[in-house]
Amino acid sequence: MRKKIVAGNWKMNKNYTEAQELMHELDRYKKNNAINCEVYIAPPSLYITTAKNIFLNDNVGVFAQDMSEHTSGAYTGEISADMLASVNATGAIIGHSERRQYHGETDSHCNRKVKLALDKGLVPIYCNGETLEQRKSGQHFEVIKNQTEVALFTLSAEEIKKVVIAYEPVWAIGTGETASPEQAQEIHAHIRSLIAAKYGQEVADEISILYGGSVKPDNAKEIFSKPDVDGGLIGGAALKIEDFTAIIKAFD
Ligand code: PEP
Repeated sequence: MRKKIVAGNWKMNKNYTEAQELMHELDRYKKNNAINCEVYIAPPSLYITTAKNIFLNDNVGVFAQDMSEHTSGAYTGEISADMLASVNATGAIIGHSERRQYHGETDSHCNRKVKLALDKGLVPIYCNGETLEQRKSGQHFEVIKNQTEVALFTLSAEEIKKVVIAYEPVWAIGTGETASPEQAQEIHAHIRSLIAAKYGQEVADEISILYGGSVKPDNAKEIFSKPDVDGGLIGGAALKIEDFTAIIKAFD
């Protein structure tokens, strides 16, 4: 059975004091409530060690928001897979649309990063998704196919099973616009069928595919109810404990 997951991407938000506060609130919530999904957070990497110290029993997965495509060396500002593994990070988000938009990241970069992450035992959350123009011109299925193939299809079946995929239509990220549950389901099923065609249905059925793009407490349940939607990657609503936990509760 594939995992149900709610993952919070904090982006470049919260100073150290605020970050610790939110981590403690989430830790308390997790300890005091029965929860029916895995919970991950991706705080700024600077706070990963703190997060690991707060979530002592590993009850919350702790992810980086990105990682380097290089192994080590003269790459100022970069953080390697080995460094993340050495502080016991759970994994890294790879290929977020903001990395693509502002830092020129491509699916070839993602492919190298995913492989490096897996080699160090990290879970990659690989993000893809079409722009508004691509959707309007009916290219979304093809765009997703290309992204998925370039970023992931050099992996072995054993490797790809360890990847979490996040479908995040660019037009829905931070905009308040959400893909309808039907639109999300349609693309998730498409991604799963691409994986099934290459690796077999059994492998495809093991991979969690998350939806990301303005998931909020009031729409999470309906989106997560779709058969190929295994949870969400949450931006804005991950920054307030009430909203994030309400989204976690969508799996009750
Ligand atoms: C994201 O950045 O991954 C995201 C889904 O953001 P938001 O929920 O704010 O749209």
